[in-house]
Amino acid sequence: MAIERTLSIIKPDAVAKNVIGQIYTRFENAGLKIIASRMAHLSRLEAEQFYAVHKERPFFKDLVDFMVSGPVVIQVLEGENAILKNRELMGATDPKKADAGTIRADFADSIDANAVHGSDAAETAAVEIAFFFAGLNVYSR
Ligand code: UDP
Repeated sequence: MAIERTLSIIKPDAVAKNVIGQIYTRFENAGLKIIASRMAHLSRLEAEQFYAVHKERPFFKDLVDFMVSGPVVIQVLEGENAILKNRELMGATDPKKADAGTIRADFADSIDANAVHGSDAAETAAVEIAFFFAGLNVYSR
């Protein structure tokens, strides 16, 4: 199976709930390595650019408002099948539909405030990793 990298964000709601460590533990227990990590309070421009693919969607402004409402923790995860594995750990976008035991089922309140982001494909993972970590070190091991 291929070793992949994926971009993960712990969103402002989960940072505010003080569950950064619990979410990191889930990544580690699933065999995903955290190979780069930074905390940031995104600017509006950064949030708009990161979610540009959604700019025509009705929820776009609320999504940007939410993403800039507090600090986030951004990480690159590496491991076998990392993209799909992280999506499985996250659960469905709407926490009401997320499987029991997933991050969103356990820590998210709503489809807007849904605890985590994770890249959905290899192409988006590469773009998203470059968006937040271009010029910064990653520590593959
Ligand atoms: N979102 C929202 N309302 C919706 C759909 C999506 O607020 O009706 C937000 C939500 O935070 C979601 C993000 O937009 O995580 C990106 O949507 P996507 O469909 O890419 O979901 P994800 O990949 O995060 O599961």
